[in-house]
Order: sequence, then structure tokens, then C-alpha cells
Amino acid sequence: MPDAGQSRKHKAYVWLVALMAASTVMALYLSWTALGYQLNLQAYDFLFRLETPAPWQPGSIVLAIDEETLSRYGGLSGMRTALADGLEKIAPARPAAVAVDLILADDPNNPANPVLEAAFAKTTNLVLSCDLLPGSTGWEDPIPQFRKYAVAVGEVHADLDRFDAISRDLPLEEAAVHDRRWALALDTWLAVNHLDITESPDDLVAGSTTIPSRRSNGRILRVRYAPNGIPRVSIAQLDRDPSLASKFAGKVVFAGVTAQTASDRWMTPYSDSITMPGVEFHANLYETLARRMFLVDAPITLVTIVCFALAALIGIAFSLTGNWQTNTGAVLVVIGAQLIPAIAFKHSVVWPWMPGTLTALLAIATAIAWRHLIVSRQLVRAETEKDRYQRSMQFAIHELRTPLTAIQGSSELISRYGSMPENKRKEMADLINAESKRLARMIETFLSVERLSAGQMEMKQERFSLGDLLQRCVTRAQPLANAKRIALDLDDFQETALIGDCELMEYAVYNLMTNAIKYSPPGTRVIVFAEDNSRDGRVPLAVQDQGIGMDKKEVSRIFEKFYRTRRAEQSGEAGTGIGLSIVEQIVAQHGGSIQVDSEPGKGSRFTLVLKRA
Ligand code: ADP
Repeated sequence: MPDAGQSRKHKAYVWLVALMAASTVMALYLSWTALGYQLNLQAYDFLFRLETPAPWQPGSIVLAIDEETLSRYGGLSGMRTALADGLEKIAPARPAAVAVDLILADDPNNPANPVLEAAFAKTTNLVLSCDLLPGSTGWEDPIPQFRKYAVAVGEVHADLDRFDAISRDLPLEEAAVHDRRWALALDTWLAVNHLDITESPDDLVAGSTTIPSRRSNGRILRVRYAPNGIPRVSIAQLDRDPSLASKFAGKVVFAGVTAQTASDRWMTPYSDSITMPGVEFHANLYETLARRMFLVDAPITLVTIVCFALAALIGIAFSLTGNWQTNTGAVLVVIGAQLIPAIAFKHSVVWPWMPGTLTALLAIATAIAWRHLIVSRQLVRAETEKDRYQRSMQFAIHELRTPLTAIQGSSELISRYGSMPENKRKEMADLINAESKRLARMIETFLSVERLSAGQMEMKQERFSLGDLLQRCVTRAQPLANAKRIALDLDDFQETALIGDCELMEYAVYNLMTNAIKYSPPGTRVIVFAEDNSRDGRVPLAVQDQGIGMDKKEVSRIFEKFYRTRRAEQSGEAGTGIGLSIVEQIVAQHGGSIQVDSEPGKGSRFTLVLKRA
């Protein structure tokens, strides 16, 4: 079938590729809008709950100042006495470190300070807390009499997520102007393990541990929560049962307020609106560090590449013909887009859920639109083309049948009437001869179309005269012109030689002349003229008529096989729409080109620009 269909198919695929790329870009863009970010977080929380790690024995414990402790020690003002008591009670169990999640920045003359100092003096690896001053202008540090007992002062600035109140991560550093502090949990972990930090833009290295935490990302680290929670013993409980102190043996203690009334309570992806005290949150960050359970973000370039690959797969699925293949393909890609984040999470990689899912869905929607708009439209065109192809085949068969009938009839007459007069017999024989030649010529033309378009046609390379060629064509076309009372004139031209296949070239020129005659009303004129443009070695050869003409859109299609303009069909002139496609191929094979100038109702000029020999 026509290769116009082939090129349209090709065009449709180019469209598909472009649309798939565009929907990927769109999906990536949408994934990083506020809404996309929010949905990503939801998906993260979902996976986070789904992929709860196997429970472990936490290395940390919370020394809690709970409601009971507060009421026993006279409210928040009794907190320092309570803490001192608690530390005194656990000291014999020799905890590995004590991180105090209380800001002890004021009240240097509090009567409870000396007892707390005494308790601090007995504490190994004491880490105190500081918080950012409003506007990050400096640090709210512990008063000097406490500070001197601490091996480090870590920050406990609460920086909740921008979009919801859920704490998923914590920055490992905060800076007030040029004074940078590590997080309380990090300082505690460093103190317990006697480590220092070496920084790089991508991570923090302490001993043999590399903490993936990019500077460009604010050095945040995602917190993994201990599945069974961090054990908690309150100071009031210790008062009642001092033997509970044994639970603190060798542990890293996080001391802080857990009372529901205190404001320092955060939500976690697990919490389902039940809040977690800040001190327990720091303990969980410590567990994350101690167990090296780091969740890293998938590289953005990899996410982008995978998104393009998903869209490509959707594109391939939609370029398949079978509906079930397309549907299965599309469903598999959507499932794949869900599996990637889940599998990545199993390997401690946080793969954003939105880009892949949105790419798959947008690509499917776009591919459906593509199918409907482009492919079905092409199908309609292909159908009409097929129709036209069939009609021209019928026409061709009809054309072939006419000479065959004449040959058959004449030969029958000759054999039936043996006593036919000699002159009658000769007349019949001549007719048979002429008709069979016509038949051969027609078959030759049809075969040429197929062979030329299949690229199997060997072209002759002979030298021939342009003048002779034009003369022959005019002589052949003259009877047609006469029948339609059209003047067919050959203008003066300079004789020149061409090189190529003389017969094919004659076919081309003759075709232009017969078209000009066919598509012109009686009483008009067809002029054939040639110039030897010796300067660039090209010979423009033009056939000009005063016929029905064509508009620009029609001109752009007349070289397609089987295409005929509406005006041509209405003219009543028989045609197949094949001629010009052969002409174009012949001219192209000769290294020439063809130009068409036409105006509806005014006429057309077909110019072959040929190479001189
Ligand atoms: P056909 O057998 O239909 O003449 P062609 O391939 O030779 O097939 O031409 C294709 C179509 O181009 C024609 O059907 C007609 O619509 C248009 N055409 C060709 N030559 C002319 C012309 N001189 N004037 C107007 N229309 C033309």
C-alpha cells in the first residue's frame, strides 16, 4: 500500500514521543508544587508505617518529668530539684551519658541550683541543651555554673515541617549567625562514642559512620522511631521505687518533660494525632544515629530518568495494536510506579511517590488522547485512501479490459469467418496489434509505479535530445487537445541534451501535458516552454495551462498516490491519481525537481527543473 500511510504512521509516532516527553515534564513540575509536596509526604508516612523496622532493644531511656513528678515537686518551679533528685538516684547505675532536654539559661540564683550542680558533677558525659534566640540572633545557653559540667551543649530547636505539624526529620545542625551547634542527640552520640565530626557538603563523618545529610538540605536527618517506643521512667516513680534505677545502667539517658501539659510535644508519622514528648523525639534521633538507620533521598536525576522511562513504556504500550496489550502494559507501568517507592524504602531509600505515579497517569491520559485524536483521524484518512486505491484499481482493471475486449472480439471474428476479405482481415490484425501494444504500455506503466516506489527500478543512463522528447510528447498529446478544442503550443526553445532514461522522462512530460489538457476547459491554451539556463546547468521545462487550478493545500498533496482534487473529480475526467507520483519519482531519479504554481480557476504551471547533460 501507499507509503504516504507509512509516513503518516511515522508522524503519529513522532507525536506520541513528543507528547510522552511533555507529560513527563509536566508531571515532574507538578510533583514539586506545594500540593505535590504534600502528597509526597502522605505517601512517605504511609510507607513509613508500612515498613516498620523490626523492634530492637533501645540504647536510650527517658528520665521523665511527668505530671506526677511536677505535682510532687511543686510544678515547673520545682523542676531543677526534681532533676537533681532523679540524677542522684540513677547515678549508682552508671548511665553512659545524660542529655538534659531542659533550657537552663536563666535564674542563676535559684535556691535549687547548688543541688543540681552537685548532681551534674557526678554525671558522666553530661550534655546540656540550648535553643535559638528569637530571630536566630544567638543562643540561649545554660548558665555558666551548669555549663562547666557539660561535655557538650546541643541544640534542641524545634523546627517542624513546613506543611504539617508532623516531625519526620530533624536538622543535625542549627546556626545563629556564625555560631553553629550540633543537635542534642548528635552531641550525645558523639560524646558516648568519643567521636568528632568531619564535614563534607554531602555528609557528616564520625569515626566509621557516614551520616548522609546534605548541607544544601539544611543537614536534616530522617528520624526512625523505635517500634516499641523508648523506655521511660519518671522521677516520681524512682522516688517510689528506687530499684528502678537499675534500668538506667549503661544507658544513654534523655531527661526532660513528658507531662501532657507541657507544650513540648510533637507528632510523628506513627502518632495518628497522639503527640510525642520532645525528649523522646531526641532519644529516637539518637537511636537512628546509634543504629545507623539512615534513610537517604533517591537522587533527583535518577528519579527523572525513571519517570521518562515510565512514560516511554506507556508510549510503547499505546503503540501496540492489541487493546488488551495496551491495557496490560499501562496497568503494569502504574503498578511499577507504586512498587518503586516501596522497594526503594525497603532499601532505606526515600523515593518520591508523586513523580512516577503522576507521570504514569498523565502519560496514559495523553496517550489516550493521542489515540483518539491522531490515530483515529489517520485511520479515517487511511480508510478513504484505501477506498480510493480500490476505486483506481477498478478503474485500472476497467481500462485494461477495454483493449482486451477489442482483441478478443477481433480475434474471434478472424477465426470464425475464414472467408473474410483480405483488407478486412488486415484491419482486424492491425487493431489487435494496436490494442495489444496499448495494453502492454498500460501494464508497463502500472509495473513502473510499483518498481519505482519499491526502489527496484534500474534507470538507464542515456543521452537524449530535449527537442525530440518535447516534439514526441506534443505529437502524442495533440489529438487529445484537438478533441477538447485546446491549443497546445510548443514555444521556441534552445536545443539541449539531457541524460537519463528517455522513456521515463517522456512518460513524465507527456503526463504533465495530458493533465494540463484534462484539467482545462475547451477554448483555452496549453503552452510548453523550456529554457537552457546554462549558467547553473539547469533546464527548466514548464507546462502551463488556463484550467481549473488548485489551492495551496491541494498542491501540497497532489504527489501523494491516488490523491485527486475535488475539482478534478467533479470535472468528469477519468484519472487514478497515480501519474504525478510517478512523475515526481522519475524527476527525482534524474536529480531534478518539480515546482507547481497554481491558482483555482486561473490555471497551473508545472515546472520540471532538469539537469543538462
Ligand atoms: P490523475 O490520474 O488524477 O490525473 P495525477 O497524479 O496525474 O492523477 O494528478 C493528481 C491530481 O492532481 C489530479 O487528480 C488533479 O486533481 C491534480 N492536477 C494535476 N495536474 C493538474 C492541472 N494541470 N490542473 C489542475 N489540477 C491538476
